[in-house]
Amino acid sequence: MNILVIGSGGREHALCWKLSQSPSVGTIYAIPGNAGTSSLPKTQNVSVSLSNNFKELVGFAVDHDIGLVVPGPEQPLVDGVQAVFQKVGIPVFGPSPLAARMEGSKAFSKDFMKRHNIPTASYATFTSSQFEEALAYTKQCGVKVVLKASGLAAGKGVLIPESEAEIEQGLREILLDKIFGDAGSEVVIEEYLTGPEISVLAFSDGYTIIPLPAAQDHKRIGEGDAGLNTGGMGAYAPAPVATPEIMDRIMKESLKPTIDGMRREGFPFVGLLFTGFMLTESGPKVLEYNVRFGDPETEALMLLLSEDTDLAQVLLSCACHHLDSVKINTKKGSAVSVVVASPGYPGSYPKGVSITLPSNTPSNSVVFHAGTSTDAKQNGQLVSAGGRVLAVSAYGETLQDALKAAYGVIGDIQFEGMVYRRDIAHRALSAQTA
Ligand code: ATP
Repeated sequence: MNILVIGSGGREHALCWKLSQSPSVGTIYAIPGNAGTSSLPKTQNVSVSLSNNFKELVGFAVDHDIGLVVPGPEQPLVDGVQAVFQKVGIPVFGPSPLAARMEGSKAFSKDFMKRHNIPTASYATFTSSQFEEALAYTKQCGVKVVLKASGLAAGKGVLIPESEAEIEQGLREILLDKIFGDAGSEVVIEEYLTGPEISVLAFSDGYTIIPLPAAQDHKRIGEGDAGLNTGGMGAYAPAPVATPEIMDRIMKESLKPTIDGMRREGFPFVGLLFTGFMLTESGPKVLEYNVRFGDPETEALMLLLSEDTDLAQVLLSCACHHLDSVKINTKKGSAVSVVVASPGYPGSYPKGVSITLPSNTPSNSVVFHAGTSTDAKQNGQLVSAGGRVLAVSAYGETLQDALKAAYGVIGDIQFEGMVYRRDIAHRALSAQTA
């Protein structure tokens, strides 16, 4: 089977890495891929336009006998890539545009959770013409609130105001000044929750849902969770805070009702459902849904899948609604991914900086590329091409072993000014010593 993977980040490199180990896979085409995907076995990078309702992409898929399409990022899913391929009979591991609204519209997903009694923060939604009503609602709430642009805002659309003045300013910026563009035509105002956060990534074929061990990511640039928000500076799994009891509750109270509710409402979920939870004192509450693999959680989780788990068959079985026929096994230890970023990230940063990777890395580690390319003028030298540049991942029988391997590899990378956090998995480590 030939597979088409859409995207160019560390997540897509990690997916291609695991897919390339599947015996049933012929060629993987990464559209457009990065310097990491191009060096994988069975994998080729191809530049194909996604515009014009995926016309060129469909032509490419038909010409290259593609048996499965795996979109990495959310945008093509929200733009309807699944429906376009369905018309030509090529299975897609990803939701329909209707199901993708669970990520594309926070107002939609909150209303869905309310209809299905899925635990989540209390909320109300307002459109641009309801600025005064929105402000009045925040006053009447009497609790700390969170303001969320309803649409896709590249992970930046959430404001946590600290005062009444900041609430008013935030609402003004989202609804009236449109700092998030059309994503802020509607705002979700939520009750502020507290507790540890976890991400649960789960495979579904619309009927069955199979979660992977819970992961924790690290959004802030600085150690100790200080500084600006980023796309994610590292992740690890399993997160010990997600005990078997918590995972049972999550399955019963949130994941099953989500999959059953979506199917019953006529937009079954096929693909990877990523649910962010806050583990509050009154139990796990859903913060958000994403309808695709998370980055950098995927770079850790792919190393946690056991060798006998055939990812290509898992993804195909989801797309063909028989997930119950495949095995998804995970290893007993821990996996981590540590993101190496450009100097200055998440602000402005230079591109084209030379990177030299170690020639030998331990067999339990993989350097996934996120923002890299090769410079033809410098004999194909590997150079930086984005903010998050590499995700150095490792598996270990213990979390400490995994961290030791990942940081050992980072110590041998030459990349001037590189930035990374030295405290990935600090929550799990302090829980172990507590
Ligand atoms: P991303 O795509 O980066 O995961 P997003 O923009 O889709 O994020 P959310 O995941 O809903 O938005 O929120 C981002 C972060 O804001 C959460 O990870 C959490 O730390 C915080 N947050 C969101 N909702 C709440 C809430 N109700 N109470 C407290 N914190 C919250």
